Amino acid sequence: MPEAIVNVNGVVSDGDHAVISIFDHGFLYGDGVYETLRTYNRQLFLLDQHLIRLRASASRVSLDIPLSDAALGSRMEETMREVNPNGEVTIRALITRGIGDLTYDPAACPSPSVIVIARPFRPVPAHVLREGVGVIIATVMRNHPRSVDPSIKSNNLLNNVLAMQEAVRQGAHEAILLNHRSELAECSQSNLFGVRDGIVRTPPLAAGLLEGVTRNLIFDVGAELGVPIRAEIMREGDLRELDELFITSTTREIIPVVRVGDQPIGEACPGPITSRLLEGLRARAQAVTRSVST
Ligand code: PMP
Repeated sequence: MPEAIVNVNGVVSDGDHAVISIFDHGFLYGDGVYETLRTYNRQLFLLDQHLIRLRASASRVSLDIPLSDAALGSRMEETMREVNPNGEVTIRALITRGIGDLTYDPAACPSPSVIVIARPFRPVPAHVLREGVGVIIATVMRNHPRSVDPSIKSNNLLNNVLAMQEAVRQGAHEAILLNHRSELAECSQSNLFGVRDGIVRTPPLAAGLLEGVTRNLIFDVGAELGVPIRAEIMREGDLRELDELFITSTTREIIPVVRVGDQPIGEACPGPITSRLLEGLRARAQAVTRSVST
């Protein structure tokens, strides 16, 4: 099975041979937007929500997506069939400004590039879910909304890279980023949820964060299971009061967090509400994708 199959503007190759021009502004300036999706039962999960967010991100940076939703969806499906015809797949779809002269003027790039990277899905290792992970609080701040707005899922990821470098240096799984008001925002590649007294809390969109597709799904799953979930401003000091903490993303679903720096969270083991929400999320993913495939 190839490690990756890539479709660059309609040209399909394996990951080692996929090429993009060095004059593509995605490469030169990180000028582009992207989405990460995964399959359950060989169906792209919540494709519609990802396409809505991709278009919203593109519109925020005045980038035209040159394909219809149907054409983009088919391109993802074709690419995914080539990489892993029988198993689950992760897709990264990128739209960049395209090829042009060395100027920030978007008029230099008449045609945006469309890239689809498909890779076999790698599940989160069982011990991570069993034991939970440690995270740190990064010294790097989440982008100010009047800088590269965190609600845009942009290819311009250096701020997130810097935060994650701090986590890697300290042997942590993820880095929590604070916003410019020192409130908790989210992690470098995931959203953040805390549980106290049976109530799940997550930083509000106004804290300046990416509106995760999984974050939205957690609100639905919580409602279904009767677990109260609120968007609420949280600060570093609130972490001490938490019984449970977890992070969410498309590819990692829900990962329990048992330590922030040196500080244990609750009993320092994955908590019951985290586990219920993970079960509920998986049940929902199975139900949605089975009903599509039959
Ligand atoms: N925040 C950031 C900064 C991310 O990169 C991601 C991963 N896409 C998320 C949150 C989680 O979003 P989603 O649930 O849509 O994967």
